[in-house]
Amino acid sequence: MKVLSPSVAFTAVSVLASTSSAGPTRRAKCGLPLVQDKALVDSILIDDLLGCAQDLEDIAYSTSRRNRVHGTEGHLNSVNYFVEQLKSVGDYYNIELQEFTTEVTIQSKASLSVNGETLEAGGFSFGNNGTWADKPVVSVANLGCNAEDHPDSLNGAVALISRGDCTFVEKITLAGEKGAIGAIIYNNAAAGLAAGTLGGVNDLIPVGGISREDGLRLVEQIENNAAVTSSGEFWQYIDNTTSYNVVASSKHGDANNVLFLGAHSDSVEAGPGINDNGSGSCGLLTIAKQLARWRTNNQVRFAWWTAEEEGLLGSEHYVNVTAASELDKIRLYLNFDMIASPNYVLGIYDGDGSSFNLSGPAGSAQAEKLFEEWYKSEGLPFVGSEFNGRSDYGPFLDQGVPCGGLDTGADGIKTEEEVALFGGTAGIWYDPNYHSAKDNVTNLNLDAFEATSRAIAHAVATYGTSWEGFPARNVTSLTRRSSGYSKYNTLSRKSRSVKKTYLEVSK
Ligand SMILES: [Zn+2]
Repeated sequence: MKVLSPSVAFTAVSVLASTSSAGPTRRAKCGLPLVQDKALVDSILIDDLLGCAQDLEDIAYSTSRRNRVHGTEGHLNSVNYFVEQLKSVGDYYNIELQEFTTEVTIQSKASLSVNGETLEAGGFSFGNNGTWADKPVVSVANLGCNAEDHPDSLNGAVALISRGDCTFVEKITLAGEKGAIGAIIYNNAAAGLAAGTLGGVNDLIPVGGISREDGLRLVEQIENNAAVTSSGEFWQYIDNTTSYNVVASSKHGDANNVLFLGAHSDSVEAGPGINDNGSGSCGLLTIAKQLARWRTNNQVRFAWWTAEEEGLLGSEHYVNVTAASELDKIRLYLNFDMIASPNYVLGIYDGDGSSFNLSGPAGSAQAEKLFEEWYKSEGLPFVGSEFNGRSDYGPFLDQGVPCGGLDTGADGIKTEEEVALFGGTAGIWYDPNYHSAKDNVTNLNLDAFEATSRAIAHAVATYGTSWEGFPARNVTSLTRRSSGYSKYNTLSRKSRSVKKTYLEVSK
């Protein structure tokens, strides 16, 4: 589809004026038929999914930054797009725009040399400013996720650590505790520089990201007892930006027994973010539009979250400003983040903990089972997806809300067993374009996109009709803020008190 004309370009005024705030949402009667599972599923067409993805790419490419980062024109126009599309089906939904402001990196600089040779390097969002000169580089064992991986020789040195398994924050915290004055993280796949976010303002040692190839070369030199020294300079400028969560609740259906589905609407800086997460956004939008032809017994609520890429901030904001008594009315939260990965698997969040030993609140296992049964009935293979809170369901898990979801893989490495099930290429990422400029429409896998979106529609029809057989909700107000699934949270909450600052050089 074509680029949006300037007349629909976002302004806060136009969007705020054009939507109603969420009020009492039940409508006594309506003439629509009760949702039919097969009919809803069969109404989800790849042309619609792809058309939406193309619209989001056009929105990104029509801006100078060519992305949809929280708070940028590309993201604000995405928000406006979701609102306009939802309004195109009439007054089926109460649409709420939830304003959210947080710090993001506006500008950054990264330079790194090793033994006098300049290496290509990048910074991490919320990485601290700092410089070092001619410091020894010490290799950290394994993936640097355990204290014993970090040797005593890190004292006064720069830690060289592989990406993978645990968060960047965990790795560089451990290195800092051993006295390292800086860290270099190398990628765990041949996919550009290691990059990401530290989730918020922090007091960690400065850190840079390099490629897997460069990282392994340095590890080999160190193992061969060559003297490896490094100089580095990292800084960034952080400022406040504002954007919006879009929350759309069906006007009919029982608002005390809500099915809630969410996907993040923002991208990273590197590109338009079409698999991550135009795909999940468009899956939900396409279903939300088709659902408007039907009545449901239970309220169905959709959210397009902002600032997920900054550390799950939009969804965290939602649960922070929503009363516990309202969160108690959410029977199930389903999350969709990357559902059209080029080297895909059909992943189901492992809510019962059978694959990864991390289970969710009662109901999470039933959600997993529903998707398993659906894929079986469609004759499709599936695998468990680690239930680690690393997307917008993390804040909901923290509040004791049962969660589920589907994804098709991000920066994990595909195994031979998975190739036997799904085809594709072993030994590389599920999405080789993850967080890069190549995450665009051309590289979506349409089979995965369609299969996943149909499965979501099946969940909407099932739970929109009845919660029979689904466990009663435990009481969120008794379990709030107890479980700590999302490691980002403490840091990001802290970051909000900082208004506008150059980060201090760390010690
Ligand atoms: Zn994502």
